[in-house]
Amino acid sequence: MQNLITSDVVISGGGMVGAALAVALSRLGLSITVLERQAPAPFEAQSAIDLRVSSLNLRSERWLTALGAWQNLQQMRLCPYQYLQAGEGSAQLRFAASEIGERHLGHIVENNLVQLALWQQFAEPITVLTDCEITALQQDEQGVELTLSDGRELQCQLLIGADGAQSKVRQLARIGTAGWQYQQACLVAYVDTPYPQQDITWQQFYPSGPRAFLPLPGAQASLVWYDEAAKVKQLAALSAKALEQAFIAAFPPELGAIKLKSSAWFPLARMQAQQYVKGRVVLAGDAAHTINPLAGQGVNLGFADAMLLVEQLAANLSAGKSLTDADSLQQYQRQRRMQNTLMMGAMDVIYQTFSRESAPLSLLRQQGLRLAAKAGMAKQLLTKYAVGNSVF
Ligand SMILES: Cc1cc2nc3c(=O)[nH]c(=O)nc-3n(C[C@H](O)[C@H](O)[C@H](O)COP(=O)(O)OP(=O)(O)OC[C@H]3O[C@@H](n4cnc5c(N)ncnc54)[C@H](O)[C@@H]3O)c2cc1C
Repeated sequence: MQNLITSDVVISGGGMVGAALAVALSRLGLSITVLERQAPAPFEAQSAIDLRVSSLNLRSERWLTALGAWQNLQQMRLCPYQYLQAGEGSAQLRFAASEIGERHLGHIVENNLVQLALWQQFAEPITVLTDCEITALQQDEQGVELTLSDGRELQCQLLIGADGAQSKVRQLARIGTAGWQYQQACLVAYVDTPYPQQDITWQQFYPSGPRAFLPLPGAQASLVWYDEAAKVKQLAALSAKALEQAFIAAFPPELGAIKLKSSAWFPLARMQAQQYVKGRVVLAGDAAHTINPLAGQGVNLGFADAMLLVEQLAANLSAGKSLTDADSLQQYQRQRRMQNTLMMGAMDVIYQTFSRESAPLSLLRQQGLRLAAKAGMAKQLLTKYAVGNSVF
């Protein structure tokens, strides 16, 4: 039947996580169909930097290198950083790549360029279908059957939902979620800075929420301002000139006289799917979990999901098991849910501890930061954790 497409794996969502899965799984010899609402636009060197940027740790970078996408990204745009600083008032904790024998701790990248760099690695046996989405899903012991919005039908052994926080796959598979909306929101601004390209990313804590600096290529940066949702909405409604002045007044003076180029605000939500696996349906990335972006872990956790899923599926194939071996998929779910839950909890503790206005608590926080700055071994472990290495 002309309208029927058959493949081993269907991936709904060709964003950063879905595209990485497609490249990695195609290398196992599996036929892949990627469904994506909108293909990434080609790169133009003169184009403005996109507001959606991520901090990629060394572990994600190494995986993207193995997939051949990092090399594509290097031909486009990215900004390495050697230092990471967090602090409150005069208490500052600075991590340096040299302390763990690395040349950098991570890179700030534009999400759409990471996606494009991965799409540039798409080759047979990957089929891409754009401008359509799944409207119906049925699964049994034989496989999964999908109906698309354009009337076509798909059959596969495994369906992966990598279609982001509002995942349609998650909804169609009737997988529930747990979580909440934080009272705070964040305002992201893309700015020109008065100084040349920086090699540090920093985060300063204030009682109303953290304020962060992420370096971008050239004399540019991304600024993130966390605050009460009502305050963020108020700021977002200001004229560009007034907002620029508000950033200059609110951020540490070392930032200098920035020039605002664009801005947008995002609500903050914590969400986790109650199951990552249901029969032949598997969730990965933001479809499975969204985390407070405070420590820039979102897509790094998504890539960690993808790495483990590929490992499990490769092991199934080489052991002659079914691709969707239930024990193996359960192991993916167990390990990734535990790791992601731990990281979400850690973010919440930091967020709550640093966002409370209380003089004794502030003193305790500052003493803690000073102590950590002096504790060589503990600091080295924290740095290793920040770059995505296992510390045990
Ligand atoms: C303000 C903010 C700052 C952040 N900063 C960082 C950071 O510094 N570091 C970090 O690691 N993470 C950060 N994150 C999180 C990061 O952006 C996400 O974790 C990441 O984008 C998740 O990737 P994904 O591929 O799982 O999902 P997405 O990026 O959401 O991609 C999903 C893809 O699926 C497609 N899609 C959606 N629905 C359908 C459908 N029905 N059919 C077909 N296709 C569909 C979409 O078009 C999209 O391409 C931040 C998030 C926010 C909000």
